Amino acid sequence: MLYQGPLPAPYPTLTDDELVERIQKLKQELGSQCVILAHHYQRPEIVALSDYRGDSLQLARFAAQNSQSQYVVFCGVHFMAETADILKTGQQVVVLPDLGAGCDLADAADADDVAMAWDDAVGMLGHDDIMPITYVNSTAALKSFVASHHGVVCTSSNADKIVNYALKNHKVLFFYPDEHLGRNTSKKLGVPLSQMRLWDPKKPQGGLLPSDLENVRVLLWKGCCPVHQMFTVKQIDHIRTKDPEFKIISHPECSMEVVDKSDMSGSTDFIVRTIAQSSPGSKWAVGTELNLVNRIAKENSDKTVVSLNPFMCLCGTMNRIDLKHLCWALDQIKLGTPQNVISVGDPDRSLAKKALSRMLEMS
Ligand code: SF4
Repeated sequence: MLYQGPLPAPYPTLTDDELVERIQKLKQELGSQCVILAHHYQRPEIVALSDYRGDSLQLARFAAQNSQSQYVVFCGVHFMAETADILKTGQQVVVLPDLGAGCDLADAADADDVAMAWDDAVGMLGHDDIMPITYVNSTAALKSFVASHHGVVCTSSNADKIVNYALKNHKVLFFYPDEHLGRNTSKKLGVPLSQMRLWDPKKPQGGLLPSDLENVRVLLWKGCCPVHQMFTVKQIDHIRTKDPEFKIISHPECSMEVVDKSDMSGSTDFIVRTIAQSSPGSKWAVGTELNLVNRIAKENSDKTVVSLNPFMCLCGTMNRIDLKHLCWALDQIKLGTPQNVISVGDPDRSLAKKALSRMLEMS
């Protein structure tokens, strides 16, 4: 994770009202020169000031199609800003308002560790008919590695399609960096657990023996999202005992046990649409990031929407983007000295673009 020092005066002492007023004025002055994108997990006040909000796939598509604005202010985490920079079609400058907005899941798979594991896996399997797939929540360097081994990126919206393609066309798939999304998706597509193996990068040869890889179809990199890891089967049991009318809907970054026990599971966009389309009066306990759950609850006031975990925390890194940082980032753009510019250099840029474009074509 990168680090950003404290903001200069006057930002730390401005009130929220002053900051909102200043941001709105800056937005007017910058006009179409600047677009503000916000991920669904952002704070409500940031989403309210954004021009476009969405999940990873929607924001990736937007970055690929938008060439009008000179500046893209990305209110999300570092790998998302990298993705926007890689997919942009013009000379836009992508700015992340706080460099500390990283992602623990993306940090779980270092591209050099993945490259070493790949060589080990090829040696242990005795063949290289392996398709690498990385979840979009990964560094540009890992996306680049995946492209250089004829692999592809996926999101939670299109993981079914992409994993299915890999299973049909290759002997083995190696899924990074989220073991839960890899396991949940492969299981849904009919791969038994006995044909999946967890690759622990902290152990020599992933903690596996060549004999463990006989009949293996799916290798799962040991990594997870600390936010989605917090949901448990016990919470599901508790809510169902209290009120059996509650339907449980979870994100596939949750553990297999939680996904299996949920009534349904799917991407952020799936969760938003499913609850929006449900009948008035319905009750939902949601296993995903809290800012999003609170927003869904607000936008569906005719339904009951709660977090599956009553003691849930926000995603700490997403939450780093606040009014102060957004205001500072826009001021710097207005002054002609944009800060925190996210720019991916070659060869990672062109290779990662290949893996991302392939994903967009396959989605
Ligand atoms: S919720 Fe999890 S996967 Fe998403 S940005 Fe936060 S740490 Fe990363």
